[in-house]
Amino acid sequence: MNEPVAPGRVGDVRRRNLSLVLDSIARTPDAKPSRAQLSAATGLTKAAVSSLVADLVESGLVSEVGLYRDGERGRPGVGLELSTRRGVVGMEINVDYLSAGLLDLGGTLRIHRTLESGNRGQSPESVMSLLAGLVSDVAAEASAAGIMLLGGGLAVPGLVDSAAGTVATAPNLHWHGVALQLDRLLPDAPFGTVLHNEANCAALAELWYGHGLDFRDYLFISGEVGVGGGLVIGSELFAGPRGQAGEVGHMVVEPSGPDCSCGGHGCLESFAGQEAIFAEAGIAPGAASERLARLGEHLASGDPAALTAVARAGHYVGIAAASTARLMNLSAVVLGGHFTQMGPWIAPAVVESLADYAPGVVSPARVAVSELGQSAALLGAAGIALRSVLASPFSLTTSG
Ligand SMILES: [Zn+2]
Repeated sequence: MNEPVAPGRVGDVRRRNLSLVLDSIARTPDAKPSRAQLSAATGLTKAAVSSLVADLVESGLVSEVGLYRDGERGRPGVGLELSTRRGVVGMEINVDYLSAGLLDLGGTLRIHRTLESGNRGQSPESVMSLLAGLVSDVAAEASAAGIMLLGGGLAVPGLVDSAAGTVATAPNLHWHGVALQLDRLLPDAPFGTVLHNEANCAALAELWYGHGLDFRDYLFISGEVGVGGGLVIGSELFAGPRGQAGEVGHMVVEPSGPDCSCGGHGCLESFAGQEAIFAEAGIAPGAASERLARLGEHLASGDPAALTAVARAGHYVGIAAASTARLMNLSAVVLGGHFTQMGPWIAPAVVESLADYAPGVVSPARVAVSELGQSAALLGAAGIALRSVLASPFSLTTSG
């Protein structure tokens, strides 16, 4: 691996052109463009493209593939694609589990490992030790498969400062003002590990790999122990001036409602978070995954308490979504996290509530249930890391 090159050592023009060529390859994953096609697409000379591609191939970001094009005969042409021998790692700390997964530069999730772990109230040091162990297992598997890791993203269910690597508050982990030792996760990766909010990651995963492909503007609402959210506007995450927009779980949906972990009361989380739904549905205490499975069985068998609990959650999700849709001029809602397992029961309640509180704003066809399931946050965190690698290929190339 080449040492990252400090900005300035490679000429600005060349850096821009490296990005231009790489972006052109990344935009056409199925086309596997040739050097001549890249020249036509970018407006750069064939000689310039060849030189830039040589750098990208040498840095390992791009690989050559032999292929026949439609209507061509004779020798196969040489196409270019993002290398599947380079990857990034998505990681998630959740209340009930840790997970880590490897996304190759082509965008395929190659490895995905989850470890059940009761992280609520545990010290950040002990949770980070467990996570580092899991990540090191993924790194070993990647190495055995010949894949080099370039960077990573870590999703945490709380308000974070990505630049500082600190968690301002993660109420359901009981973490406040915590600096995480991100360096220990991928010590050899040139792009390091960046911290992100879990719901924002899941909202972005939906944009890149799920319903966001059709919905350019939507509110993503993710049910977990807490309820998180993300606003996607014009295919971009709207994170707000301090990166904390979209905290739909703490929108007030019932002013006289119960106290909330945030210090307020009547928040959406008090009605649509896991504890609230399990309590209302009469699901006995236990591991979250088992309780969710039991809730699913009760729903499928038509158990009135389970149906009422999920309908109530959907009613309040719909109230929050109606207000947000009005405020932000949105016309679609995507339900993620544990709501995906309750999809057939919760979605109709959300639709009904939206029709009641914001008639004509969000059509039933634009209330969607995520298909990414539990890997959404991890995919989003990895996707952000992937995009930062692709945005600065010059930091992995040496010649200028
Ligand atoms: Zn709250």
